[in-house]
Amino acid sequence: MAEFLRLNPQFKGIGFTSQRTRDRMVKRLVEQGIKNPQVLDALGYLPRHLFLDEALAHRAYEDTALPIGLGQTLSQPYIVARMTELLLEVEPKKALEIGAGSGYQAAVLGCLVPEVWSVERLEALLEKARSRIKNLKLSNVRLHLADGHYGLEREAPFDAILVTAAPKQLPPNLFEQLAEGGRLIAPIGDEHQMLRVYDKRNGQMLQTDIAAVRFVPLLPGTEK
Ligand code: SAH
Repeated sequence: MAEFLRLNPQFKGIGFTSQRTRDRMVKRLVEQGIKNPQVLDALGYLPRHLFLDEALAHRAYEDTALPIGLGQTLSQPYIVARMTELLLEVEPKKALEIGAGSGYQAAVLGCLVPEVWSVERLEALLEKARSRIKNLKLSNVRLHLADGHYGLEREAPFDAILVTAAPKQLPPNLFEQLAEGGRLIAPIGDEHQMLRVYDKRNGQMLQTDIAAVRFVPLLPGTEK
């Protein structure tokens, strides 16, 4: 188990079931090329099934994206792991996620990054995500109802920003809210999307393409 998780008193007393299923998922992630032991520990530890509606919970550890209601989806474990691994390369102290959805990716970040913020545009999803995060006692993760196109100005700058819904182009506010030396990861595009890493070096943007992906679109506004 990651040192952080072992030492984190928040995790005491939470009896997680389905450990064997999670261990199999972690083994598969290793085979798929995930190397960061902290990321593997976090995914091996967090109860992914609690982030899904009961009817789908039994499929939580499959190698697939799953619906979380209101037309939204929780990414497959590999994508969550890969994006987290890429983000950790800059050793972020403060991270922002755009698109909290079920709250799973935010919880993963919460195991690995001291301070995590995540914004979501759909209040119904946000409320559920919030109670999951609270039940897991991840007090370093805070969720906020907002249109992620504008980031979270009052908490900027962030060392890392993870966008989990696809904009056609990178919203300029997000890059502006990235700290110097920070990293932003986002799926960019419409029908064809590319997962991109943007690094901020001397105020300049360095861009790297990672892989073709498929995320739900980043939509404008919020819905109560
Ligand atoms: N990261 C999530 C899955 C994300 S699905 C998880 O771990 O479960 C993408 C999410 O982005 C959806 O919940 C969708 O409502 C949200 N979203 C889309 N456009 C948004 C915007 N402009 N601002 C904030 N959230 C947005």
